[in-house]
Amino acid sequence: MATRTRDVTVIGSGPAGLTAALYSARANLKPLVIEGLEAGGQLMLTTAVENFPGFTDGIMGPDLMAAMRGQAERFGAEIVRGNVTSVDLSARPFVIVAGDDRIETQTLIIATGASAKLLGLPSERALMGHGVSTCATCDGFFFRGKPIAVVGGGDSALEEAIFLTRFASTVTVVHRRDAFRASKIMQDKALANSKISVEWDSEVVEMLDPTHGAVTGIVLRNLKTGAEKTLAVDGIFVAIGHTPNTTLFGDSLETDGTGYLVTHDGSRTSIDGVFACGDVQDHVYRQAITAAGSGCMAALDAERFLEAQGH
Ligand code: NAP
Repeated sequence: MATRTRDVTVIGSGPAGLTAALYSARANLKPLVIEGLEAGGQLMLTTAVENFPGFTDGIMGPDLMAAMRGQAERFGAEIVRGNVTSVDLSARPFVIVAGDDRIETQTLIIATGASAKLLGLPSERALMGHGVSTCATCDGFFFRGKPIAVVGGGDSALEEAIFLTRFASTVTVVHRRDAFRASKIMQDKALANSKISVEWDSEVVEMLDPTHGAVTGIVLRNLKTGAEKTLAVDGIFVAIGHTPNTTLFGDSLETDGTGYLVTHDGSRTSIDGVFACGDVQDHVYRQAITAAGSGCMAALDAERFLEAQGH
């Protein structure tokens, strides 16, 4: 197994990881980025991104990630394919194993992101970014005057449903039980909104219609009666929660009650020399621009840490 040594290693290649790589590269730290299985992160699942500053006419998610990648590489970031299989944070240099590579690194920037939970239907996968979305803030604007559905019964689902009433003609919330998990105040607000209706006790059986490459409807099954029906909608927002990608780190880093990495004083984690940025430590904002901003912070924090260590 080949061993490389690095001052900065970044795990993850979404907006947070690539911005951390850009800043570290421009600080002459020659960062190594291990891109992970979902290279480019969640923006690879979206189509047009209209809220990333600097693009008057918007930019496609995969194009934005390709540009960020090229920009980081231009300044000397080395981006390698593959996935990290183990991490040893017990002493510095930290040891990272990714396939046949063993990396000894003085600092580690964790930008592994979070994954939106999905229902797991093949039609959901096929229509992701083509009418199916996991981000109302990102994609709500595309459904002006159109009927849409939101799947889920937690605070996220109801918050998204309320937000989406600014654009959509109607919002149907599809929930698998007869009571919401969301806070009472959020429920009251959603149920008082005349544009919102609820399909209780219902699961999504199918999203229509992959053969058209666009969402035309949603097939629901009532879990109490077994009855199925089709609802005509132009958009489907899946809001059944997110999972931060922290499995690799086991118990070695402090997490909050829901599994997100805890950061303090900028991007510092509970281990000196280990920094975290982007959605793996942020379940509140979850935007490409906030992830990129926190990636910049992590790179600057890592650079200052190395300086203080005399590197
Ligand atoms: P959550 O609280 O875990 O709720 C997930 C919802 O999705 C639940 O209603 C769940 O149904 C449903 N669900 C899960 N898997 C499903 C599946 N496979 N098929 C159908 N439905 C499924 O997640 P969240 O709403 O993202 O919230 C996460 C945390 O952030 C919570 O603590 C929440 O309070 C907080 N949050 C707060 C705010 C706010 O205060 N403004 C906004 C957003 C989030 P069941 O109810 O049947 O389990």
